[in-house]
Amino acid sequence: MIVNSIFDNTKTAFTLKSDSELERAYFLFKMISKEPLVRIGTAATRLALNMNLPVEGLIRSTVFDHFCGGVNEKDCISTVENLYTTGVHSVLDYSVEGKEEESQFDATMEKVIELTHFAKNKTTMPFSVFKPTGFGKFKIWQKITENEPLSDEEKGEWERIKGRYEKVCAAAAECDIALLIDGEESWMQDAADDLCEQMMAKYNTEKALVYNTLQCYRWDRLDYLKEQHAKAKAGGYKLGYKVVRGAYMEKENDRAEEKGYPTPICESKTATDDNFNSVMKYIIDNLDDISLFLGSHNENSNYLALEVMSAKSLLKTDQRIWFGQLYGMSDHISFNLAAAGYNVAKYIPFGPVKDVMPYLIRRAEENTSVAGQTSRELTLLKRERERRKL
Ligand SMILES: Cc1cc2nc3c(=O)[nH]c(=O)nc-3n(C[C@H](O)[C@H](O)[C@H](O)COP(=O)(O)OP(=O)(O)OC[C@H]3O[C@@H](n4cnc5c(N)ncnc54)[C@H](O)[C@@H]3O)c2cc1C
Repeated sequence: MIVNSIFDNTKTAFTLKSDSELERAYFLFKMISKEPLVRIGTAATRLALNMNLPVEGLIRSTVFDHFCGGVNEKDCISTVENLYTTGVHSVLDYSVEGKEEESQFDATMEKVIELTHFAKNKTTMPFSVFKPTGFGKFKIWQKITENEPLSDEEKGEWERIKGRYEKVCAAAAECDIALLIDGEESWMQDAADDLCEQMMAKYNTEKALVYNTLQCYRWDRLDYLKEQHAKAKAGGYKLGYKVVRGAYMEKENDRAEEKGYPTPICESKTATDDNFNSVMKYIIDNLDDISLFLGSHNENSNYLALEVMSAKSLLKTDQRIWFGQLYGMSDHISFNLAAAGYNVAKYIPFGPVKDVMPYLIRRAEENTSVAGQTSRELTLLKRERERRKL
């Protein structure tokens, strides 16, 4: 039977935080709960970094250290080991974004392969991860998604993207480390989905090794999942999905409006929640064919997953179900789930400060726009502060 309040335990949630870290987290969430401050702060930070002003130290001691593991993987090791003392696993996420050079795509691929080898035989790191646009230009993904012809040069770029996918999937198979592929904007995602489908057909013959992402703020994702399920059954391979709500909602809605096509986003938050929960339930109903990585900070969805697992008498440690949250967010979910015996992993982003700025800005904006979530973090931090005083 599920105890329907396990996430309320702040002692477990913040067990790894010293008093001063607790204070810093409180201060940070207080700051990013103020929308004008985030707006001005992100614009000023972008400008300062572009002008090479010395603001890295300030960024590091505030948002960066809270949401990232460090500038390189070595910096992250102590965090990985520390998290594992509580049963929480790590997914090291090389979060460099917005690159446009072939040499940079190769470097990102090499980094993912290196991390996969690094994770081999380590119980602390069961997954590797990358973003499609980390391996090739956004424009190429978009052109293929929109059925636009590629120039000869672009055809070469596309072949190299496919080659990079092949190499990381082969490394994942060799090391037996599952590979999560992030979801991005809908106007490039079809190409990424199709390529990932090919990788799943090739590498998921025994179990889910390669995982695609389903962004459930898209109303078409349940049908897409069912379609993929039928194909996988016919093709004799397994599916793996990271299920999230989606991080690009405003961008998606703005573009749809600007270009005059129906938005791919659900009509309301409730519709997204229902879609997310339906996708999650569909997967748990079909665990023999599909594995789940549930990436969410939503308490209700996480509780629902526990209920569905319990109703089906699934083991908490069933390797086909993982729970994931981002480093620096929703510790009350991660640490309490791990303490209760479930499979939990934190995404730990890392990379040079300037290169992880798009990621950090998304986190700041997400915590500003999702007012409920920020006030929840603040309430929990405050409660823990008071508990420690007592
Ligand atoms: C481990 C992990 C991995 C992730 N990987 C990815 C990824 O690969 N790609 C990606 O895009 N995101 C990714 N995310 C980010 C994820 O999409 C965000 O955490 C999410 O936006 C917040 O949703 P939530 O489930 O935590 O819950 P909530 O806070 O309950 O939901 C907020 C989300 O609901 C949706 N929403 C809000 N208002 C509306 C509305 N009016 N109408 C319709 N929908 C609405 C939006 O998606 C919004 O972000 C990941 C998150 C985690 C934890």
